[in-house]
Amino acid sequence: MIKNPVPWPNGARCAACITFDMDADSILHLEHPNDSISRVSAISMLRYGPEVAVPRILETYRRLEIHQTFFVPAWCVEQYPAAVEAMVAGGHEVGHHGYMHENPSGAGRDEEAYWLQRGIEVIVRHTGQRPRGWRAPLYNFSNHSADLLIEEGFLYDASLMGDDVPYVLKTERGELIELPSHWGMDDWPPFVHSMDLDYMMPIQAPSRGVQAFREEFDALWEHGGLWVGVWHPFATGRLARWLEVEKLIAYMREKGDVWFATMEEIARHVRRCIDDGSYRPRVDRLPYYRERVSVMPLAPGPRRAAE
Ligand SMILES: [Zn+2]
Repeated sequence: MIKNPVPWPNGARCAACITFDMDADSILHLEHPNDSISRVSAISMLRYGPEVAVPRILETYRRLEIHQTFFVPAWCVEQYPAAVEAMVAGGHEVGHHGYMHENPSGAGRDEEAYWLQRGIEVIVRHTGQRPRGWRAPLYNFSNHSADLLIEEGFLYDASLMGDDVPYVLKTERGELIELPSHWGMDDWPPFVHSMDLDYMMPIQAPSRGVQAFREEFDALWEHGGLWVGVWHPFATGRLARWLEVEKLIAYMREKGDVWFATMEEIARHVRRCIDDGSYRPRVDRLPYYRERVSVMPLAPGPRRAAE
């Protein structure tokens, strides 16, 4: 099923990392810059992440003695320093997730580089370390992202969806380890419903939403893959959902042979295995395309909308 399963440490069948993207209310101010401050209910829903959910999540991790990864937009680091300090104090990894959850795919190279560097500065100031990994806000990895990450010395990216196991992104400037996930591991579809965020989905029962993540785990455990949850404190950190996650972690540990680690630890392990020849990853050369691909002429806007 998987052509090149990774030789995980201590004979583990599967590596697992819950990544929480602590976006807090950055996404609301980005979406509605002119009136976001009047959308108080939405702000309260999103502040639940750093204020209530992150302490709860960290307490679970402390009890279970696992260390995991948080991707935090730099503006959120500045806005909610106590939550980030608690992550660092608990021994968890803080990765880069944009400055204000801006869209790199919609920016030019210089603008993307500017916000990447500003984000690094903020993370260094608040955590004492440069970020080793990056997840593009809303998976918006641009045609410049890989080069910029390599230039800034990043070890890995966690934005893409191209495999069940880690792989390598190669550009003319160098290499990055890709630690992939996919929308089936993201908690927005089952758990987020917000008119203010223009995202309306039928919310699933906590047990049903988490069940999907469990089935993903069972398949990856069976075949030697990498399980990466792409979750958000304001969504999966809500009480009933988090209780289901605690049951899921207990299930994973009882099943055994699972390596819970930070994304940085996983990326470093994969890098070592590549270097000593014990793992031969798939290599994706980027960019996939340098020019517009479609040969179809652009239809005028209104006509396209009508179709
Ligand atoms: Zn995000």
